[in-house]
Amino acid sequence: MCIFCDIIENKIPSKKVYEDENVLAILDISQVTCGHTLVMPKKHFKNILEADEDTACKCISVAQKLARQIVENLDAKGCNILNNCNEIAGQSVDHLHFHIIPRYSENDSIKIAFEESPEQDLDEVLARIRG
Ligand code: AMP
Ligand code: ZN
Repeated sequence: MCIFCDIIENKIPSKKVYEDENVLAILDISQVTCGHTLVMPKKHFKNILEADEDTACKCISVAQKLARQIVENLDAKGCNILNNCNEIAGQSVDHLHFHIIPRYSENDSIKIAFEESPEQDLDEVLARIRG
């Protein structure tokens, strides 16, 4: 029922960038930029809000290592590491994954824009986050 679980179980082919006991990284089928990679845990969690800490840490550790390797070996100038969490944030596959998107130029086929938004009372925001 989960496409990434099927990939992990080799029921669906993928281009494996990295694999260990807990984590798999594959090339994204839609390469936003050359080398666009997805890092996912082998254990199924919907997303980072639901994953256990150990699983999240293992994925982030692999994402860091691969980001360095990808940037260096593909001569990228940097990268975006993205995690879309829930549909509202653009999550389309409900199995935790981190995107590593190497960046070559400002004209890469990706747009991440922090636009003007209503001013917030930061003390009130802090109080609400702290609960
Ligand atoms: P998200 O929108 O953050 O959930 O990202 C899901 C990503 O999975 C998209 O970038 C898709 O291109 C990618 N994707 C979907 N199916 C496959 C597949 N079979 N192999 C590799 N990547 C996939
Ligand atoms: Zn899954």
